[in-house]
Amino acid sequence: MTILLSTLNARYAHASLGLRYLLANMGDLQPVTSLQEFVIGARTTDLVEKLLAHKPRIIGFGVYIWNVEETTKLVALLKRVAPEVVIILGGPEVSYEHGEQDIVRQADYLVTGWGDITFPRLCREVLRGPKPLMKVHAGEQPPLSDIALPYALYTDEDIAHRTLYVEASRGCPFKCEFCLSSLDKTAWAFDLQQFLAELEKLHARGARLFKFVDRTFNLNVKTSLAIMQFFLDKLDAHPEDPVYAHFEVVPDHLPDALKEGIMRFPPGTLQFEIGIQSFNPEVQALVSRRQNNDKAADNIRWLCAHSQAHLHVDLIAGLPGEDLESFARGFDRLLALKPHEIQFGILKRLRGTPIIRHTQDFGMVYDPHPPYTILANDRIDFATMQRLVRFARYWDLVANSGRFAHTLEMVLGASPFANFMALSDWLYENTDATHRIALDRLAGLVTKWLVLQGWPEPEVRTAMGGDYAGKVQAAPAGEGKKAVPQRQARHMDSLAG
Ligand code: SF4
Repeated sequence: MTILLSTLNARYAHASLGLRYLLANMGDLQPVTSLQEFVIGARTTDLVEKLLAHKPRIIGFGVYIWNVEETTKLVALLKRVAPEVVIILGGPEVSYEHGEQDIVRQADYLVTGWGDITFPRLCREVLRGPKPLMKVHAGEQPPLSDIALPYALYTDEDIAHRTLYVEASRGCPFKCEFCLSSLDKTAWAFDLQQFLAELEKLHARGARLFKFVDRTFNLNVKTSLAIMQFFLDKLDAHPEDPVYAHFEVVPDHLPDALKEGIMRFPPGTLQFEIGIQSFNPEVQALVSRRQNNDKAADNIRWLCAHSQAHLHVDLIAGLPGEDLESFARGFDRLLALKPHEIQFGILKRLRGTPIIRHTQDFGMVYDPHPPYTILANDRIDFATMQRLVRFARYWDLVANSGRFAHTLEMVLGASPFANFMALSDWLYENTDATHRIALDRLAGLVTKWLVLQGWPEPEVRTAMGGDYAGKVQAAPAGEGKKAVPQRQARHMDSLAG
């Protein structure tokens, strides 16, 4: 094979949409190009061996925050073992501030930004000459109608076993400074009918789990409605074999027409990822995030009460201007709205994002290694930030896992953030670990904690029995919920009582 397109995915279940876009747009080079995906954590020498077995002349790597360290090692080994193989890099992690990156120094070429047009052109020049003089090639951004859609390249195995990423639009019109999409300044839509025709083909081939990577699905209501209608039609026609769709939405924009559509989705077919990030207006202004907090809260409340959608809401700790008390207030406010999951993220300083402008004024100290997590700022010292990191991890294990629905209520009480932080501190003191805690051990620890807080032991054991014994063995999803991921199915089960 002349050209290999490769990347290290975070998990096997994540099929790389970026690589498939490149392959779809290779033109006359497509027959001599193939994909070779890996999963992080493999031995670098094994990967080198597998790549070179194809005898490639060019390898293009998709570089992301989760794989940059391993890909750097991979490129270094490749350059030692097979220096004649031309290495071309692309992806968000190498699209900005690339002058200081080791991986870029070792590679032959770099395509920044969009690669759909520029990567195949560069490959042609490398293979047929004249040899490109420049190392860094700014990715050309063509009209979306000039880009071939990649969905036919999902294999039957992808469809059967992996999450299928799809996009109806690229870019974002908002400017939240911690986010790479803020650099887009606008959003561009793919041709809707063509996109829906691709979804139709995927569905006909058996695809049921669709994850939209659009940054703001609900921006254009007409388009959102057409896409939702596509899924509703499938649900009507095949209620015994339902689809599951995941969308990222902005929380303060939910017109009635959208609400009507959302209400028609049955349980286990729709998930929204909603970014709140912070409820503090001063923090929002500092990071240029435009959000009507009251409207956002009303909409989340409405979705919980009137829709069957699974709600996954994001908050970020460590933003400039936000101290622990402000974050705790935001957390408690969000929790009171009762979303199914709160994704508690810690701020990361992504390459290229404008949040860097606050570094000095707010004493922002970031880990220099990926994923560039904040370590401290002028309001949250390092030790406290570490407590927040552990809170996030334990929150995932105890709350987001859906394993402790009843006992969680007892833990949270009237001051959820403070009470969960106390549990988090105690768990860490007693385990010295945030990973690899077996579920039965965690259940034992939560039980002990509640008893220490004064809860009668029989009451705790009854609640834990309902949570743990009842749900641990629960089937991932019953009839009519086949496509639902397990965690979401547990949330739905616990809500059903
Ligand atoms: S955080 Fe969301 S709304 Fe803000 S710029 Fe990024 S994608 Fe857009």
